[in-house]
Amino acid sequence: MCNYNERDRASMGQRVALELDLVKGFRFFDPHIHMVSRTTDDYQAMADAGVVAVIEPAFWVGQPRTGIDTFRDYYSSLIGWERFRASQFGIKHFCTIGLNSREANNEALAEEVMELLPFFIYKEGVVGVGEIGFDDQTAAEEKYYRLQLELAKEAGLPVQVHTPHRDKTKGTSRSMDIALEHGLDPGMVIIDHNTEETVKEVLDKGFWAAFTIYPFTKMGNERMVEIVKQYGPERILVNSAADWGISDPLAVPKTAALMVKSGLPKATIEQVCYQNAVAAFSQSGQLDEAMLNEKTSIDQGKKFAGNSVLRGGQQPRRDADSIIIS
Ligand SMILES: [Zn+2]
Repeated sequence: MCNYNERDRASMGQRVALELDLVKGFRFFDPHIHMVSRTTDDYQAMADAGVVAVIEPAFWVGQPRTGIDTFRDYYSSLIGWERFRASQFGIKHFCTIGLNSREANNEALAEEVMELLPFFIYKEGVVGVGEIGFDDQTAAEEKYYRLQLELAKEAGLPVQVHTPHRDKTKGTSRSMDIALEHGLDPGMVIIDHNTEETVKEVLDKGFWAAFTIYPFTKMGNERMVEIVKQYGPERILVNSAADWGISDPLAVPKTAALMVKSGLPKATIEQVCYQNAVAAFSQSGQLDEAMLNEKTSIDQGKKFAGNSVLRGGQQPRRDADSIIIS
């Protein structure tokens, strides 16, 4: 899959730098990315490429959790340490909190998580309930999806829905039908991981249609460009869903660059790579345009609960006195 030798890597780096030149001055919002799994290099590259804000949905961590405390600590890190870490690179960090579909299948633990969720969904920076929905489309997944839809409705929060990778079309229809059955306004529901097969139905039913750009897979940039050409920018969002797997935290700016190359107007690109995310998630009351326009002055000497992003001997970058890490 990604078997590059050093020379390929170098030339790829140059090619990406050239591509990103096409979107200099653009602002991006990646509304689905798992930063706890990413490095400070990623944060720096994202900030350099114009990413000003991210949403980190709660998800599963690659292996099943065995107790409620690891959920509690994970949710705490999404509203605490990770938010702080992003701020150290000038990026605004928001999150959605929920029980992911895979772990909904451990019912004993799922019950405990349901009791925990109300303590987190009202916290500052939480812009929705997510990512929830179906994986294998089991009865337990449906049960906890329904319960969390009720929770979101009660809290007046948007819902970020993960659609299954297997049996996607059916799983996507079912996710929307259930949301409607619970009386959710489709305008409050972001259906994620769409493809050409699902997009029409999602838009027709009035939901937001998010697309994840995975490197080396079918939902690549070229197809995204075609979808925007065909359906226009209304209610379409682009994200990276970068996590601990092979994924690309620059997927949004790179897709935007390809859109520029393909002749899509700047306003259209900004709508799908920034504005729609603001519109969808500002319904939480936890984020707005003004907040995103506020320039964060970076002070990497700052600490969160006694910890900073710096390691022994590193010089903090402080915008005030322009010290650059060397
Ligand atoms: Zn995800």
